[in-house]
Amino acid sequence: MISRVLKENKIRELRLLLERCENIVITCHVSPDGDAIGSSLAMYHVLNVLGKNVKIVTPDMLPKNLLFLPGAKEIVPFTKYGDFGRQLFANADLIFCLDFNAPYRVDKMADVLLKSKAKKVLIDHHLDPENFADVVISHPEMSSTCLLVFRVLCRLELFNQINKKAAECIYTGMMTDTGNFTYNSEDPDIYIIIAELLKKGINKDYLYSKVCNTHSESRIRLNGYAVSQKMQLFPEHQVALITLTQDELRKYGYEKGDTESLVNIPLSIPEITYSVFMRDDVEYIKVSTRSKGDFAVNRICESYFNGGGHKNAAGGEFRGTLDEAVGVFMSILDENDKYLKK
Ligand code: 5GP
Ligand code: MN
Repeated sequence: MISRVLKENKIRELRLLLERCENIVITCHVSPDGDAIGSSLAMYHVLNVLGKNVKIVTPDMLPKNLLFLPGAKEIVPFTKYGDFGRQLFANADLIFCLDFNAPYRVDKMADVLLKSKAKKVLIDHHLDPENFADVVISHPEMSSTCLLVFRVLCRLELFNQINKKAAECIYTGMMTDTGNFTYNSEDPDIYIIIAELLKKGINKDYLYSKVCNTHSESRIRLNGYAVSQKMQLFPEHQVALITLTQDELRKYGYEKGDTESLVNIPLSIPEITYSVFMRDDVEYIKVSTRSKGDFAVNRICESYFNGGGHKNAAGGEFRGTLDEAVGVFMSILDENDKYLKK
């Protein structure tokens, strides 16, 4: 048995909303990852079993390595099908907001989401959810929204409606948000749930391979170049920095997702406590940060890079040049030292 963590009153409210609704929209954060897509699709499959009319609308396109997930091709990306997406939000009587904590995380869809008259249910594991949903199931102590969706479904007595397709989607998000169970993955319930998903017929090795072993030659070369030529270590500050300019990205035929796990690589050096990656995306500088232990990178992203996230994985968007972003990074090294274990 897994531990009981969800509040009964929230489950009761959600059950009532589900009984009364017909048209459901599920949405998640911009640049969706395995957890955002996994939790959305898992909910989608179970609601389909219940006979609901349900659609997933994402703010933008899915990364290619998630397109194999069952149901992924039915997803409506707002950047491609704006009018259809708008219509779905307008006709919905219930909206699930999964894996994000604030309307701005759905990017250009925020207005459409907020204006919809549908009841909104937030299921998420990011800190400090903004007050925009009718039912808020927020558990920052959970390693993934997928884990939370599994728990919600169980408490709604829908365990039997979790079919193999839903199980595959849940496992994928649990896996990607914990770096394949290498961080935030001490909770014993994770492994009890994995056992249940295996009994539902998932093949975890196949899922790992589909999500992680899909790299193109150019991606591998870009990452190799970034590590060998662009990684700067600041051992006295226990930090690593990697930057990639537009020219470098173009030279290696960069495609969205190609630098997905680059920021993690320097963390495998024992002396490095946190790692920062900056990519020039023209419109802004995309900043990604990762850390080990108690060192919080979301504080850095919130304060200096217009973003946020979790203690050990956070990101943001810097409005300015790459050089300016590096300047900010350099200027806060001393301040960050205060939070390091020496
Ligand atoms: P990544 O570095 O993979 O883009 O993001 C890591 C985590 O940081 C994400 O799961 C998300 O929680 C958070 N994150 C990334 N970018 C942003 C951002 O622009 N704003 C906020 N609030 N969080 C972000
Ligand atoms: Mn997540």
